[in-house]
Amino acid sequence: MSDSMRIAITGASGRMGQTLISLAAADDRFKLTGAIERAGHDWIGRDVGEAMGGAASGVIVTDDADAALSETDAVIDFTAPAATVQFADAAAKAGIVHVIGTTGMTEGDIGLLARFADRATIIRAGNMSLGVNLLVQLTKRVAASLDDDYDIEVIEAHHNKKVDAPSGTALMLGEAAAEGRGVSLKEVSDRGRDGITGARKRGDIGFTAIRGGDIIGEHDVMFAAAGERIILRHVASDRSVFARGALKAALWGKGRSPGEYDMLDVLGLAE
Ligand code: NAP
Repeated sequence: MSDSMRIAITGASGRMGQTLISLAAADDRFKLTGAIERAGHDWIGRDVGEAMGGAASGVIVTDDADAALSETDAVIDFTAPAATVQFADAAAKAGIVHVIGTTGMTEGDIGLLARFADRATIIRAGNMSLGVNLLVQLTKRVAASLDDDYDIEVIEAHHNKKVDAPSGTALMLGEAAAEGRGVSLKEVSDRGRDGITGARKRGDIGFTAIRGGDIIGEHDVMFAAAGERIILRHVASDRSVFARGALKAALWGKGRSPGEYDMLDVLGLAE
């Protein structure tokens, strides 16, 4: 289709990269125009469809992000923090939509991204699924309704290849809980319990990370008080929920002014 949106995918060989490529190829609202991998990767120079074990797609995997992004409307990026900052530079040069799912970014990385938001339309979220973004809003509301008698704990579980903890989603949920309570997460975050930790500090927001097997992503926000517990839970059973969210974000970003946005904007859930 001539009016389909041209998209490039970074980290083409990755779990999310391959999921995105498969979904985009089956959706005529998109035309895959680029597949990017790091220099030296053994997919460079190969047709991405064939490298994935399927039919030829006509798109050759490249490590030249500047060239690939100059010929596309949007780039969808689930890679690693340092790579994402470089892709943001290339997306800004090209003046396109940059959908960022990469997690584990430091405040420094995020500050660098802001520099590119005057020329690129950046949509970044630690979780691109509708369900988790709803959970973020619910968490904020429940936290606003309950006082410090309710200890807030964020518990997440992921597969054994995940490199960052707590997950980007757990941090989004922690931020939402802190916002609901009117406190700064930085001041109340309790991340590493080990040994004689002393009693739990009232008002803290605790994080626990479980890593194992092929768990795609599970998040609980627990509000625990004397005599009762409220648990808000999201379970992802297929990573295509994140990829669908990212593709939806790319379409939403088309023609939108440069700037920084998140999935709450895309889904119309921002308050
Ligand atoms: P993965 O399977 O390890 O894929 C990451 C891919 O990025 C790999 O192919 C990796 O290549 C590639 N890469 C790394 N540096 C690169 C560079 N400089 N240039 C090009 N490609 C590069 O990981 P994943 O499970 O797909 O997750 C990727 C990221 O998305 C993680 O940060 C994860 O937490 C996040 N994530 C976010 C959401 C969300 O909804 N926001 C959902 C799922 C995952 P090599 O294999 O050569 O290193």
